[in-house]
Amino acid sequence: MIPLIIVRNLGSNVKQYRDWLSRYEAGDEQARRALPRRCPKCGRRMQGHGCYRRRRIGVKICRLRCPGCRRSHAILPWFLAPHRPGLMILVDRAFRLRLKGYSWYRLANAMGQVSLRTLQRWIRRIGKVAERAVAILSRDARRLDPELDLDTLLRPFGGDSLRLLDAAIGAFFLACRRLDPGLDFPASRRLAWCNVHLSTAAAANGTPRGEAPVWL
Ligand SMILES: [Zn+2]
Repeated sequence: MIPLIIVRNLGSNVKQYRDWLSRYEAGDEQARRALPRRCPKCGRRMQGHGCYRRRRIGVKICRLRCPGCRRSHAILPWFLAPHRPGLMILVDRAFRLRLKGYSWYRLANAMGQVSLRTLQRWIRRIGKVAERAVAILSRDARRLDPELDLDTLLRPFGGDSLRLLDAAIGAFFLACRRLDPGLDFPASRRLAWCNVHLSTAAAANGTPRGEAPVWL
C-alpha cells in the first residue's frame, strides 16, 4: 500500500531538516513533538515505522504506522514535493510563472532543468485538485475570520482554476494573519505553505469517503 503523506514543517531546507532528523533519531523529545501523534484516519496513536530515502535529494523520510487501520504515513518536510522526486519550490515557481501568463514553451525555457511534460503534469494536476483545495481553504478562512469578505476576494477569479486557487491561498493567509499578525508568508512558496495546511486539515477533519487527501 502506498503510504499516505502528511506534510509538516520540519525545517525550511535540507540542512534544517537533517538537523531535525538527527535530533529526532537521538530521541529528542522536542523533535519528536514536531510529528503528528494520532492517525488522521482513525485517531489511534501512531508508532515509528522506519524510514525510506528520497534519492534525488538524499534525505531520509520518516514513516509512522497506525496499529488501528494499519496504514503507514510518510512524514514529508514541506519543502519537498509530495509524490514527486524534487523540491516543492520548483512546483511553486512553475505555478507562479504560469499565473504570470507564461506559455508552455516559455515556461519550459525558464525552468531549465524540468522537462515540459513534467511541468504540464504538475500544472494540470494542480488545476484538477484546485476546486477541492479552494473549498477547504475557504471553509477554514471563514472559520478563522468570519468577517473576511471571501466573495469579494475570490469572485474575480471564478473562471480560472489556477488564479482562483492562488486567490484562495491569499485569502486563507489573510485569515491566519488576523490571528497571528507576525505570521510570515513565504511568497515564493505559496503551494508548499498551503500543503502543510491541507495536510493538517485532512488530519483534523478527515476526507470525504473514498477521496484521497488533497495536496498540491
Ligand atoms: Zn488509523
